[in-house]
Formats: sequence, C-alpha cells, structure tokens
Amino acid sequence: MSPSESTIHQEVYKHFVDVGCCRTCCLRILGNRDKSSYKSVDESLKELGVQNDGGANEKDEDSHCNKLVKPNPCVGCLGLLQKPYSDSLINEIIRGANISEYDAKTFNVSMNLPSCYLLRSEALLVELRKHFPAFYEKNFDGQALLSLKDAFKACFGHQLGDTLSLTLDLSSGFVIDVEFRYDDDQEECKPLCSLRPDIFTRHYVRKNGYTKNRIESILDTLDCDEFSKTFQVPPLIPSQVIKIVKVTLARESTNVAGRYNKYCRDLPQTPWLLNGERKMESSVEELISGPIVALLRGTSSKFASSGREDVDVRSLGRGRPFNVEVLMPKVAALQFDQLRALEKEITEKSEGKLKVRDLQIVARESLVTLKQGEEEKTKEYTALCFCPDGIPDTLEGAVARAPLVLDQSTPIRVLHRRPVAVRQKEILEMSVTRLEGDAQKFILNLKTQAGTYIKEFIHGDFGRTKPSFGDLLGGAKVDILALDVTDIALDWPPRVSCDDVQSNGKH
Ligand SMILES: [Zn+2]
Repeated sequence: MSPSESTIHQEVYKHFVDVGCCRTCCLRILGNRDKSSYKSVDESLKELGVQNDGGANEKDEDSHCNKLVKPNPCVGCLGLLQKPYSDSLINEIIRGANISEYDAKTFNVSMNLPSCYLLRSEALLVELRKHFPAFYEKNFDGQALLSLKDAFKACFGHQLGDTLSLTLDLSSGFVIDVEFRYDDDQEECKPLCSLRPDIFTRHYVRKNGYTKNRIESILDTLDCDEFSKTFQVPPLIPSQVIKIVKVTLARESTNVAGRYNKYCRDLPQTPWLLNGERKMESSVEELISGPIVALLRGTSSKFASSGREDVDVRSLGRGRPFNVEVLMPKVAALQFDQLRALEKEITEKSEGKLKVRDLQIVARESLVTLKQGEEEKTKEYTALCFCPDGIPDTLEGAVARAPLVLDQSTPIRVLHRRPVAVRQKEILEMSVTRLEGDAQKFILNLKTQAGTYIKEFIHGDFGRTKPSFGDLLGGAKVDILALDVTDIALDWPPRVSCDDVQSNGKH
C-alpha cells in the first residue's frame, strides 16, 4: 500500500469517526468486503494504515470498560457492531437461543433488522461520495457497503459459535432467528412517504410497514442530491441503541423415507374421517409417522407415498415407497442402528398390520423421485377374481390381449374427491393362474401403468372402464374378491438392508 493510500484511509477514517461511526462501520466505509478481516477489525484497520489517533467516539469505544460514559450509538449500525453494545446483544442472543435440546452441529443466524439501516447506510455512502469522490469512485462506484448482516456474522459468528459449541455455516438448516427493534425506525423512514407517495401509500405502510425491498428499489433510482434533500446526510446520532425483541430457533424439516408392506385388509392409508368422525381406529400414515415424529421430536409431520392402496388392498413385495417430512425436528441425525430400531418399533406397534424397511434420512431434493414415481412407474398386482357363472373358456385368450389401453372414467367410488375425466391407462402384462378344483375363482396377475384403477378394470364399474376384463372374457360377469399390490417399480429410496421380503401371497 502506498503512503498516499494510507493517508487517504486515515482521512476517511477520521472523518467518519467524527461523523459518529464505530470502528467496524469505518472498515465497511473503507470499502473492505473481505469477511475474514472482520474477525479482527483493529488489525484490519492497522493494515489499511489507519492509526488510532483518538477520535471522540473511538476513544470511548476503546476504553468503555474503564469509563462510565458509553459511546454514542454508531450512526451506521445503531450499536450492532459496536462495543460495548455488541457484547450485550450477543449475550442476549446466547441467552435467548435455547439450543440444548437440538442435535445441531452447525447454525446460521437470520436477522430481521429495522428498515432505517438501509437509509443510514445509503447516507454514509452519500457522505463519502461528497467528501471523498475519488476514493468513492475507486472503492464503491455503485456498490453497497458490506451489509450489516454479513458484517455481524463476520465479526461475531465465531464468537457465537464458540459459546454455543456450533459452527457457523451459512447453508445450515438450523437457524437462530433474531428480531431487532429500533424505536425511531418509523420516524426515520417517514420521509419515504412524501418522497414516493405512490409506493409507500398510507394504506400500504399501515399494513406492511416500510418494507426493505421497496426501500431498496427507491434507493436504486435516487441520485445523491435527491437523497440529501430528503434524508439526513450524514445520519444523525441515534437516540438509542438497537434492541433485540425476540430470539427464536428454526430448523428445516427432516425427511425420513422408506418402504412399507401392508398385510391387512382393514387399514386405510390416511386417517379415515367422515363428517369429522373417525371411521377406523388407525391408518398407515399414523402408524408410520407416530414413532418417527416422536424420535425426532418434531412438531408435526407430512406423509407422502408413491400412490396409495385402498383400505382393503394389501401391499406386498418390497413395499410402497413413502416419505415422512418431520417439521421442526429437534433431532435431525439418526444412526444406522437407530433407524433399524425405528423400523422394528413401527412394525411391532402395528401388531402385524405393517412392516417398514429401508428407513433412511433423505435430502429434500430426492423427493422429486417419489412424486415422479407416482405418475410414471409401473405397478404389479395380484387379483383374486370370481366368475359367478363359471370361468369361461376364453380366460387364457383374454389375458393374451395385453398389452392394451383402457379408457377409464373416474370410478364411482372416488367421484366425491376426484374430478370427472376419462383417462387412458395401459395394461402392460397379464397372466392367469387357475385354482385347482375351482370352477369360479382364478388369480389374475397384472402389470399396469401407475394410476390404473384395477378393481374397475376387472368388474367394469358399470361400463365406466372400457374394455373391462369381463369384456375381454366375452361379456362374462366377473368380480374381484381380493387385491394385492405385489410390486411398485420405483427404486427409491435406496435399499438399506438385505432383509427377507415376505411374499405373503395368501389370500
Ligand atoms: Zn457501526
């Protein structure tokens, strides 16, 4: 750095200390955007050639411990980045963040700051431009100061992390949310209403306040002179320090995926409510989600699966892929053994109705596969069918008609929740197994496109599915006694254990 550069740094620094900036804000004004240099502001100022020559605010800030007089709150950050105020703010955040129940290793801080800091930052830049135009051109030229949020995290993130035994990670799903308040915020923003009455109408301000994105869009269009006419340049010394209103913790959802088998014919997939009353005691969703939410200590959950089976349909084979999104979990990481124990717990609590496997924590992005699978993948079924008038000789000929395309009108039984439409669905493969000594019952094995209504294909749904299996049999009457899903061709989530897949194909 040339001597002339340190001289100008010193001059800028001196000017803004006199204006009422804290040392950290001076570093911002000196154009430093390297976050790592905010860990030690004094060092970084020294590197820029700034000498501590004892400006009024600076001296107080330096020796606040020995003095009863506290410095004026900084005009740029309202005390947020300024000792001794920053120390008490950080202590307050630490006291407010009750993290002991969470298993987090990393954290991020989300800050809701008063809107007026945007105006104050802009006022500092206008001041800089007015007094040090060449320096401004070289170091800013349309760019903003390092934001208060970034500066705060850069200054105190490691300190917060050390105290909380967490690592600051800007992409962490565990967030300490801090809401700040500055009593004069409204007052300082008020000139925006007369400046742009079209944007900050009285109605808008009453409803939404002085929203930051609107302020930013106004500032983008203002030049220095226009700004100076409306707002204080340099900004006035704040009457009080910024305060913390609330510290809350937020955590992104944890997704626990797996596959389930359903071995009974009296369990709905989701809680079955009719006019607000339960029709059945339990559901697949509740039996699976309950133990998962309890272990992760979440507030609630959302269940999703690759399609769904009717209450009286079993789900065999490797099972149906599902995901439980646990909201606000306190526990977000589970070990392999914990997941296996959880599978066992769900299976045991269901008293033989369910079995869960391949339980694992998955990334949110991978849930796309679950949704796609619901639409696109093939499914295999085994149906026990019944011909009251006896099985016609055309049975083998009928199954040889596959592959074939059906026109399926929305089934009567789901009309109350699905719009009326005719959907084309494909039966890809069919095969038949006759039961020895039985002239009326047979087993039909089907492989179909996802979303095909199997029961309706077999009995015809009063002509709403064309052709029906009865049509293929030459108009014979055929009904379905029992249906099992035997395979869902979706290789998600990845297999975890090589446990035996119970075929359990008895009807
Ligand atoms: Zn400051």
